[in-house]
Amino acid sequence: MSAVVIDGKAIARSIREEIAREVEQLKQEGIHPGLAVVLVGQDPASHSYVKGKVKGCEEVGIYSEVVCLEESVSQAELHETIEQIKKKTNIHGILVQLPLPPHISEEAVLDLIPAEKDVDGFHPENVGKMVIGKESLLPCTPHGIVKLIQTTGTDLNGKHVVVIGRSNIVGKPVSLLLLQENATVTLCHSRTRNLADLTRQADILVVAVGKPHLIGKEHVSPGTIVIDVGVNRLENGKLVGDVRFDEVAEVASYITPVPGGVGPMTITMLLANTVKAAKAQTRKGD
Ligand code: NAP
Repeated sequence: MSAVVIDGKAIARSIREEIAREVEQLKQEGIHPGLAVVLVGQDPASHSYVKGKVKGCEEVGIYSEVVCLEESVSQAELHETIEQIKKKTNIHGILVQLPLPPHISEEAVLDLIPAEKDVDGFHPENVGKMVIGKESLLPCTPHGIVKLIQTTGTDLNGKHVVVIGRSNIVGKPVSLLLLQENATVTLCHSRTRNLADLTRQADILVVAVGKPHLIGKEHVSPGTIVIDVGVNRLENGKLVGDVRFDEVAEVASYITPVPGGVGPMTITMLLANTVKAAKAQTRKGD
């Protein structure tokens, strides 16, 4: 293997240490950042993600609470729960764990969270601000990806980044954030023709598709930085990315593993957003 493996866990740990120091300082000023997570139903993956978020909060000293609701909850009941959380002065960030059951409108729920408490960065106001390059709460996974790329010491200015996947939570926002860093961005999706011809032109390749082992060495030119966002569970229980790690690591300059690459950065950026939200809300009149 010639590529350097980007150790997302270690990078996340060092950012969390910085966040913990900042939380400690805020507490001395009488500000205790707080996060509320709303969890609907029994989906094991959602429960495991929420557990990771609570653990992350504990690690850095952020107060957290989880509100669990039955799968059968009505849209009105869920709205009422969020309205109650909004009134709590000790809560600066509100997150609704997705996906929600099919009878619930996710869009209506996300619109209810005030933009200043939207620590997932999904509220249309925050998305709009990100599009025009204004200060906002950024979506966690895309923000974490940009941080990971920056740890390689690569100057994004003028680099050709190819992103595969155009979802609202990863592909589109990461493309915008990289564009703001002055990269030249090509955004690919399921209708893209001659995918490998495009990906082979990349200095940096970000793969966010959700198909195990889709990308192989035929897609990657020597020296490319490869960021694998995919998280796929195989029938044997093994967790793998969208990239065939072993063969791509032969040609790439840097590569993220799955697990242990992008994943740990997502929760870390959520913690950072909660602290940012707490500061913005409590220091408003300063
Ligand atoms: P998504 O909403 O399902 O979007 C997948 C995207 O991939 C779509 O834009 C789709 O194109 C495109 N696509 C599908 N097949 C393709 C192909 N053969 N060639 C090129 N493009 C193709 O998924 P997502 O929510 O963005 O998540 C993507 C992956 O990242 C998943 O594995 C997810 O679990 C993972 N993820 C990880 C984290 C983390 O923290 N590590 C966070 C979020 C997501 P169309 O738009 O044309 O359908």
